[in-house]
Amino acid sequence: MLASTDVVPAEVDELDPDQRIALEACVIAAITWCTPQGEARARARLLMECHGRFMRAWGVHGKGASFSDFLERLCKAPVGELLPGPGSWSKLWDVRLLEDDGTATPVLTRLAMEASEQAQEVPGMGADLRHLHSVLRALGKLPTGARLSRITAEAVQHAVFRALQQAGFAAYTEGRKALVTRPVMARRALARHAHLVDLGVYTAISPMRQFAGWWAWCPFCQWTLRAVPRGRQAADLRCEDSRHVERGARFRMSLQDGQWRLAPAGGEIRAMPKLQPVEGHVALSYGLWQWIVLPGLLEIELKERAEKAGADVRLWPYGDSYDLHITKNGVTWRVDVKTWADPQGIAERMRGDPEGCAGLIVVIPEHLGGYTGLLVKVLGPHGARVMTDVSLIGEVSRA
Ligand SMILES: [Zn+2]
Repeated sequence: MLASTDVVPAEVDELDPDQRIALEACVIAAITWCTPQGEARARARLLMECHGRFMRAWGVHGKGASFSDFLERLCKAPVGELLPGPGSWSKLWDVRLLEDDGTATPVLTRLAMEASEQAQEVPGMGADLRHLHSVLRALGKLPTGARLSRITAEAVQHAVFRALQQAGFAAYTEGRKALVTRPVMARRALARHAHLVDLGVYTAISPMRQFAGWWAWCPFCQWTLRAVPRGRQAADLRCEDSRHVERGARFRMSLQDGQWRLAPAGGEIRAMPKLQPVEGHVALSYGLWQWIVLPGLLEIELKERAEKAGADVRLWPYGDSYDLHITKNGVTWRVDVKTWADPQGIAERMRGDPEGCAGLIVVIPEHLGGYTGLLVKVLGPHGARVMTDVSLIGEVSRA
């Protein structure tokens, strides 16, 4: 199974303009189709608009689809069959946007976040998007009309951390730690982090990640689980990260004797989450979870593994453009962690800080190891090395 992080901007960049328009129309239509929230007429209008753009994108290829065929293909066909023109090497070609049960695949959620501003009209998910756009606009990082995927994870991370650094050393370290380890907070607890309140990065729990006024956290990343209603008296709750789902971040919430209860739906969970009231809690929105929490968790894990291998580690060195400073027996590793493979985005950031990249090590998780070659080709000329987390720890152990 592909994880949400496995379809990368680099693959969307491979598409021609018509394919990109068709993909975006399908993504917005599919997410509208599977979102339970929202008024029927508004959803139908959005679906028809998407169908219109899909037909125009197919234009010269002449093999569009009637509205009902379009919906049928959205539900069953892999992405490759939804796009006009010749195929590509991309993994994106074989994935589906909707699961057999009609819910969003992780790839769809990821692509929807990176779609144009029209996705903000999608019921439910629109709230996440509007929040991310407003944070970025406040940080001066979102030119009107720009596609989010081209704003890049890089820029989002950089803008948030830069803003934190302006609040001083203590606020930076503490703020970055809070973002990674506490992606959901009680409103009262958030009030104690003045600089995070100022940044506006926490918002109300998304309508997609609550049911009947309740939410629960993922045991692996602590973020809110997505809720898929199963009738009025039950919902499936699962993390947006399919790797966490595989390890057991999936639960069934149901009404028993007038009480909402949560039960595991597979996997081995040592610490069961609890249902929490939506009222009184705030959370990071999807993009911030994807681009700050997920890499942050890997950074913390790498620190622990490098220390076990006998190294001294400084996490999140202040004022520098990398994440971990590791030293052992006179050898130093300056490590920048990425949980996405966006060679163009990373290269753009490096061009902004040419001195900082010489000798930098870009570390990606093992499951993105297949992108090492592509990243080396783009980042090598900037003087950076690229390796997976496993190779880095191997190198530190041998030093
Ligand atoms: Zn999770």
